[in-house]
Amino acid sequence: MVTLVQLSKTYVRGETTVAALRDVSLEVGRGEFCAFVGPSGCGKSTLLGLVAGLDHPTSGDILLDGRRATTFTSNDWTVARRDVIGIVFQAFHLVPGLTAVENVALPLLLRGDRGSTVARRAEEVLEMVSMTHRRHHRPGELSGGEQQRVAIARALAHRPKVLLADEPTGNLDSHQGTDIMALIRSLTKAGEVTVLLVTHSQSAAQSADYVWTMQDGRLVSRTTPSALAGVA
Ligand code: ADP
Repeated sequence: MVTLVQLSKTYVRGETTVAALRDVSLEVGRGEFCAFVGPSGCGKSTLLGLVAGLDHPTSGDILLDGRRATTFTSNDWTVARRDVIGIVFQAFHLVPGLTAVENVALPLLLRGDRGSTVARRAEEVLEMVSMTHRRHHRPGELSGGEQQRVAIARALAHRPKVLLADEPTGNLDSHQGTDIMALIRSLTKAGEVTVLLVTHSQSAAQSADYVWTMQDGRLVSRTTPSALAGVA
């Protein structure tokens, strides 16, 4: 579903160049849940940002659902994020003035889906994340864990094939973090979506099928979550 071929990203700032990602090749199959761990600055967010089309690689290729994303125009990326990719961030990014159900509905309305279809789908995804009882609450009236549930519902509303999650438990306490990881895990079990998760949390990575450890912009090992726990 997601294939990276010798993907590299170098940032240039004046005299300084930073090789954020070096020659990364991997394949994440349909329905797989893959986590990326490693110390701060090792390139995890850069990798996810490239797969999301939020940044462009210096070299290498990205294949997304069989399409060569490295040749996408910015319009193609917009369409991909609207149809194929869902993104969840550490900082929820919900619209403060909108209720939970309005936040979930917004991207569907923006892409021109019909009102009645949007209302039905928004209810459906709020149900998937167990948030229907909070549908009329605004983000400020929800706990961090609840806000992340709404953000996940919003990311899933358009039925993406790939969910990209960048430190989704980073702003949550450990109990809420465990809940959110169980939720993401259940989505992949249901065969709904392929997940790429970036985290510095060993416990969050435990939910994945397998874990890539990164260092200095490179993939250094692929392990099972239990092997990772043994090392920690
Ligand atoms: P991680 O997510 O693992 O903490 P990042 O992917 O954010 O790591 O960063 C990898 C490296 O690239 C770091 O050295 C970081 O300082 C650098 N970097 C990330 N984004 C930029 C940018 N926009 N400009 C310059 N350097 C960057």
